[in-house]
Amino acid sequence: MSGKFVISLDFELLCGVWDHSDKQAYGPNVLGARDAVPRMLELFAARDIRATWATVGFLFCETKDELIAALPAERPAYVNPRLSNYTYLPEVGKDERSDPYYFAASLVDAICNTPGQELGTHTMSHYYCLEDGQTLANFRDDLVAAKALADLRGVSLRSIVFPRNRFSPAHLEVCARQGITHCRENPAGWAYRAAKGSEQTQAKRALRLIDAFSGVLGTQTFVPRREGMVDVPASRFLRPCAGKPAAFHPLHLGAIKRGMTDAAKTGRGYHLWWHPHNFGRNLDANMNGLRLIIDHFAVLRDRYGMTSMAMGDF
Ligand SMILES: [Zn+2]
Repeated sequence: MSGKFVISLDFELLCGVWDHSDKQAYGPNVLGARDAVPRMLELFAARDIRATWATVGFLFCETKDELIAALPAERPAYVNPRLSNYTYLPEVGKDERSDPYYFAASLVDAICNTPGQELGTHTMSHYYCLEDGQTLANFRDDLVAAKALADLRGVSLRSIVFPRNRFSPAHLEVCARQGITHCRENPAGWAYRAAKGSEQTQAKRALRLIDAFSGVLGTQTFVPRREGMVDVPASRFLRPCAGKPAAFHPLHLGAIKRGMTDAAKTGRGYHLWWHPHNFGRNLDANMNGLRLIIDHFAVLRDRYGMTSMAMGDF
């Protein structure tokens, strides 16, 4: 069997970061993501790259009125209210033009209009499945709201990426009942195991950082698992080329390319993921890194017959 190269993007703008940052600190990255999305789409179209865009439901809306009308009646009551994007609703502007941090209907259209791109879900509200205070009923309502917004565009959501990659088997069952068929689990191993925020220790973070630049925990190639849902597990997070770690970015790209080569030679999968806002600063340098990865994929396609896949293609 030929190897598979998978890309998924967690598209969330400010909805994904508001619990630990704000518009002032992270706003430039969020606005930069709006420039990054068309550049990535152009590259993917030119090089026949398929990708899944797991998008927060809020972003589908063009106006605040549209968003308010689409929200579920019952919302998660996290013990930590900073986690809830509903907390910030009073601050949201009236439409995409006046509040580009929150709304992205035009970019969602661009994704839908680019060949080979799958629109997936990152839940309606950037929902945190493992946090205290949420319930399975809240999660179901959140997913139903996200599906309804996608349905309006004629898109049937098949693939989910869970915010912070945190979820339980019970959440997967809810997804299956809502017609979601594909998910992205974490890479194997202790450092990547799903846990709530308070259980993400410094030791785990440090080990993940070392692994990103060295590949010491292995190539993280996968074969898709089919138990109820199709699991297309992540292999590696593509880290931003920015700040001090930029000097080490070639090492990071090297670890990724070694993993891709291993997948191509063994007929396994390699699943790379990131957020558009990771490219929000230093866009040219980040695009150059992505281009090198895609150049490497083209070599593997020619030499070993590796193919490009979105999550929902499995
Ligand atoms: Zn996210």
